[in-house]
This record gives sequence, structure tokens and C-alpha cells, in this order.
Amino acid sequence: MTATSAAAAAYVVAALLFILSLAGLSRHETARAGNSYGIAGMAIALAATVGLATRDISTVGLTLLVVAVVVGAVIGLWRARVVEMTGMPELIALLHSFVGLAAVLVGWNGYLSVEGAEGGSPLSGAEAGIHSGEVVVGVFIGAVTFTGSIVAFLKLSARIRSNPLVLPGRNWLNLGALALFAVLTVVFVADPGLTVLAVVTVLALALGWHLVASIGGGDMPVVVSMLNSYSGWAAAASGFLLGNDLLIITGALVGSSGAYLSYIMCKAMNRSFLSVIAGGFGNEGAAASSDVDYGEHTEITAEEVAELLRDAKSVVITPGYGMAVAQAQGAVAELTRKLREHDVDVRFGIHPVAGRLPGHMNVLLAEAKVPYDVVLEMDEINDDLAGTSVVLVIGANDTVNPAATEDPASPIAGMPVLRVWEAEHVVVFKRSMNTGYAGVQNPLFFRENSRMLFGDARERVEDILKAL
Ligand code: NDP
Repeated sequence: MTATSAAAAAYVVAALLFILSLAGLSRHETARAGNSYGIAGMAIALAATVGLATRDISTVGLTLLVVAVVVGAVIGLWRARVVEMTGMPELIALLHSFVGLAAVLVGWNGYLSVEGAEGGSPLSGAEAGIHSGEVVVGVFIGAVTFTGSIVAFLKLSARIRSNPLVLPGRNWLNLGALALFAVLTVVFVADPGLTVLAVVTVLALALGWHLVASIGGGDMPVVVSMLNSYSGWAAAASGFLLGNDLLIITGALVGSSGAYLSYIMCKAMNRSFLSVIAGGFGNEGAAASSDVDYGEHTEITAEEVAELLRDAKSVVITPGYGMAVAQAQGAVAELTRKLREHDVDVRFGIHPVAGRLPGHMNVLLAEAKVPYDVVLEMDEINDDLAGTSVVLVIGANDTVNPAATEDPASPIAGMPVLRVWEAEHVVVFKRSMNTGYAGVQNPLFFRENSRMLFGDARERVEDILKAL
């Protein structure tokens, strides 16, 4: 077997492992196995690629390659070890930016070694045109992904404000940039010049920056998954340029699954994909909500909550971002065990965008060994909330905001939410009366059946456990 056909066979195996990995990751029970398939697939892919490269590159080149892989692996392992669950979205955004940058570099390298080669391009006719097309499209998608992901990283890590940037005629700016890109692509394919490629790169970098800067508030989760999709297409474009089938397959898998996830999230938030891209969600919220007087809120103590729970028939816990910040999942799991021992029916209601990344709450609860069968999706539990004795809202805010269904003027109007206010009693765990991610005040806190339990969610849950 030649090195090329051995690598091709390894690529097929890796591609199958990636598909198995995606299938595994779609369910709690099989997620661990899914992860292992992905790791195995990537190990095979890297080994085959390095093996193939040994044929064409010098010892110095090979040494550099191995050093780069080792340094990258060490940094990756270290980051994965130290990252907090709350820091995952920004880490993912940062990783997407690397894929984007790699696609830009691959595109430029493709140009410099073919179209820009000394003595002219070795390609001619349709082949030359296709190569130039791949270069310009790869550089464009890669550059949009690169700067877009950096802005998402800066916003999610609160290094810059998450409010949308509102430039006059921003949709026209985006559309204009796309139209200009189409024209420049035609020009580049007809006559591949360095200046045109440089202009396309700068244009795409600016578009990526503007596209994500003008989205904010509650739409950020969709942006993260959209950038995930872009990074996949950028990788697929690089695959075409490098003639690497596995990169094309992997890129297409990432690109389409990211696009599908964005679609599911848009549906969960009742937003159209286009309106997310057009942005603006969340900036009016803070201003609008601060003007409304919702009345007084009522506080409750941990002991009183323990009392409520002792008398409850059914309890639903709706966790949110604050549970992750407080790292309260262990205490929450303990509370669940204790109540179930006393024949209280305890279930969880998970909003699709609770926390700061899709599946955030599910991962935390699984980590704390909460049984899967009591963890339900929003749609599965919403109709049961009216018959529930006590709902514990642990560090959630936007995902339980009645304004989304009751106030058409609210910036989050139309977003499906957990209808926790329909329960007999609602206890909200948070540290202050501050707003959640979308910057919108929450009328739930002022309802007659709502009680506020202020303080760090973990400490308060532990207080309740003591009182029980
Ligand atoms: P929110 O961000 O709306 O609210 C979280 C609440 O937790 C805050 O009101 C905060 O109040 C409270 N909190 C923070 N720290 C603690 C703590 N240590 N102890 C107790 N409470 C605490 O969270 P939700 O999960 O309800 O909603 C998620 C929001 O994030 C949505 O707007 C969603 O669109 C957005 N988002 C989601 C992503 C995803 O993929 N899931 C990604 C990016 C954004 P206080 O400060 O008073 O304590």
C-alpha cells in the first residue's frame, strides 16, 4: 500500500469516527463515548497527515511540524484543564478564531505558491480559475470567522461591552461588503493579483468585526454557534485548497451542524436567523426596563424555603447562569437527593439557552450526578409548572422572564420562557436585583407568589440543606 492510499484509508476511518462522535454527542448517555470517538478520529487524522507530510518536507520542516503539534497540544491540554465551565463559550469563540486564521493563512499560501509563484502559475484554464476561486473564498470566510470570533471572545469574556454596536445603515454596510466581495471574486478569478486578495482580506476582516459587534444581548449564543458553522466552512475551503478530503468532510460536518444548532437556538428564542444577523437585540432593554415601576419584591430566608420544600408535593428546579457562577450544582444535586428521599417529586426544567452555552446546565447537572430522567427540556416541563408546588429558580433570570410572553414591547418579546410564575410558590436565588444577560428587568421578582432569596446560590442551597 502506498503512503497516499494508506492516508486515504486512515481519513475514511477518521471521517466515520467524527460522524459517530457527533451522533454520540447528541445524547447525555452517549456523550462520553462521542467525545472518545472524536479524540480517536483526530489522533488518526493527525498521524496520517504527519505521515503523509514526511514524504514531501525536509527534516527541518518535519521538526518544526512536530514541535508545533507538541506546543499546541500542551497549551490545549493546559487550557482545557484550567477553564471554568462559565468560561467555555469564550474559549470556544477563541478556538474558532484560530480556525479562521488558519484558513486565511492557507489561502494566502495557496496564492503565493500558485498564482503568485515566480515564473507564473503552473495551472491553466478552468483549473487555474477554480484554484483562484478557492483561494479567495477560503480567505474571505476565514477572515470573517477570525475577527468575528475575536469580537465574540471579547464580548463573552466581558472585555468589551456586549451591547450591539449600532452604526448608521449597518445592514447596508454588511450587504455592501458582500456585494463588493462578489465583484472582487470575479476580478480575482479573471486576473489573480496580490492587491485584490489583500483588499478582500481587509474587507472580510472588517465585515467579521462589524457583523458580530452589531449583535448583542441574548443573541450571543446564536452568534457562537454561527461562528462555529463559519469555522467549519472555512476549514472545508482550506480542504479544497490543500486537496485534503478529510478536511473537507470535517469542515462540512462542523459547518452544517453549527448551522443546524443556530437554527434550533433561533427557534428556541423565537427569532428568525436573519433578524439575529441583523442584530440589535438587547440594547434597548436596559433603557426600557429601568423606567417601569414593578412595585416591591418580597424576601425569604433559607429556613422558610426549607419549610416550603418540606410541605411540597412537587418541586421544579430551573437553573441558569448563576448556578454555574456559584458552582452550586453539587449542593443542588444533594438537595434533589434529600427531597426525593422524602418522596417529593423533584424535576429540572432546562431552557435551551440557559447559562452561557448550549447544554451548559445539562453538563453541570450530569457532573453533579443528577439522574438524567429528572432533567427535562423546557417544552417537556412547561405545561406541568401550573401544577407544581414550588419552583426554585437558581441563578436564572432571562429564561424565566414573563415579559417575554406578556409584554410585546419587551426587547425579549416572543422568546419562549419557562412559565415558572404559574406555580404555587416561586423562590428566586440571586445576589441582587440586577438584570440578567439581556439587560432586561424581570417582573417575576415582583409577583405575589415570588420570593427572593438573596446571596450566593451555593451558600443559600447549603443553608437550606442544613435547615432541612
Ligand atoms: P441570566 O444571565 O439571565 O441571569 C443569571 C442570573 O444569575 C443573574 O440575574 C445573576 O443575578 C444571577 N447570579 C450570578 N451569579 C450568581 C451567584 N453566584 N449566585 C446566585 N445568583 C447569581 O441567566 P439565564 O441562564 O436565565 O439566561 C441566559 C442568558 O444568557 C440569556 O439571555 C441567553 O440568551 C444568554 N446567553 C446564553 C448562551 C447559551 O448558549 N446558553 C450564550 C451566551 C449568552 P445577580 O447578579 O443579582 O446575582
